[in-house]
Amino acid sequence: PVRVRFAPSPTGNLHVGGARTALFNYLFARSKGGKFVLRIEDTDLERSTRESEEALLRDLTWLGLDWDEGPGVGGDYGPYRQSERNSMYKQYAETLLDSGHVYRCFCSNEELEKMKEIAELKKLPPVYSGKWATATDEEVQEELAKGTPYTYRFRVPKEGSLKINDLIRGEVSWKLDTLGDFVVMRSNGQPVYNFCVTVDDATMAISHVIRAEEHLPNTLRQALIYKALGFPMPLFAHVSLILAPDRSKLSKRHGATSVGQAMVNYLALLGWGDGTENEFFTIEQLVEKFTIDRVNKSGAVFDSTKLRWMNGQHLRALPIEELTKLIGERWKSAGLLIESAGPFIDEAVQLLKDGIDLVTDSDTALSNLLSYPLHATLTSPEAKSVVEDKLSEFSASLIAAYDSGELLSALEEGHAGWQKWVKGFGKAQKRKGKSLFMPLRVLLTGKLHGPDMGSSVVLIYKAGNNDVVAPQAG
Ligand code: GLU
Repeated sequence: PVRVRFAPSPTGNLHVGGARTALFNYLFARSKGGKFVLRIEDTDLERSTRESEEALLRDLTWLGLDWDEGPGVGGDYGPYRQSERNSMYKQYAETLLDSGHVYRCFCSNEELEKMKEIAELKKLPPVYSGKWATATDEEVQEELAKGTPYTYRFRVPKEGSLKINDLIRGEVSWKLDTLGDFVVMRSNGQPVYNFCVTVDDATMAISHVIRAEEHLPNTLRQALIYKALGFPMPLFAHVSLILAPDRSKLSKRHGATSVGQAMVNYLALLGWGDGTENEFFTIEQLVEKFTIDRVNKSGAVFDSTKLRWMNGQHLRALPIEELTKLIGERWKSAGLLIESAGPFIDEAVQLLKDGIDLVTDSDTALSNLLSYPLHATLTSPEAKSVVEDKLSEFSASLIAAYDSGELLSALEEGHAGWQKWVKGFGKAQKRKGKSLFMPLRVLLTGKLHGPDMGSSVVLIYKAGNNDVVAPQAG
């Protein structure tokens, strides 16, 4: 059965890379009918905090990545926090000691430092010399009797190589001669990170380890420990780093987040695609289509313009009532519209939604639309001065239509009123199509381009006539 895990260290917020790793694990588990396990790697007691853990759980929940086993959910393979699994690590360390895969090393820090210096002088890799690897039982008993502190060191084969078949990167192999015997348990009894991860993955029956590329060097040590413990090795899939547009390592300053769905969609496309041109997926579609052999092995570029675009796609895919609520609340809380703006909001969202990618864009879109109230536009000295230019007759007639109240009473009847009026006006001016609508748009909305003109003008009229616009400060 497929069992995957996301194993964050609770030392900060969930970043884009972590979120993507979690997502790939989640999609893989769901698409295989497997289990998605959440494990908290809090062995670094100084940097791990409960607040960070809570924030992580919250962010995963926000992304909709619900886990089958882990904190808050439980499961048969718990506990799911490394800090609560110490007795298990000790037990397996003893097993490895009994089987001879690890040995006690009584070297002091000073001795180890000296070894490093000597290796450096001899231009050898700075690996453990193996001093205690071959100690006799008497030598060991003597140190134990003296109470000398010791670590547990893993006995690494001195030659040969180890290879894995990474599901994304293909064959990866390491030579063993430069690794050196590494510590699995410190002298204070604290197990070392790579040892904990291996014991956890093995005892939690993890079938696939899907994680960031930066963990690849750990995989060598973990694979050796796996073999020594006699557990079947999981399959590995190391996902490449997420890069900034300049191809540097992505950091917080590049970050951009918004509606969860869009983010999930976007993250999935960082290094994955379904093989078609399609870029818009709901999470259900992703679950259905996700396969690990379509995960790319080259670095994926983080492109916030695209994320923005994608957010727009998801926003517009929302049911219109939901979108209206989202944007309406925004306008009210930003102090643009009054609480009881009501149906005005429905119309304005309908009109402006195509030009909005982020909910926050809606502020500018609305203020832009309302920045040229008819009474100001058509009674301004600028408008009057246009009367002098080559559109003078046109402008003069439009101003006359405004002054006489003819235009306003047409607008009072909404979109149908506008259409009727504009038809008559065009006829009288002997203009139609672009030569009618371009100058009308400029004169009525103050802009060359924008959303549907009739709806815009009706809304501008309503905004000027009804109490919907919040009084502006200053
Ligand atoms: N705790 C590690 C991290 O946060 C993940 C280790 C793993 O996935 O094996 O980067």
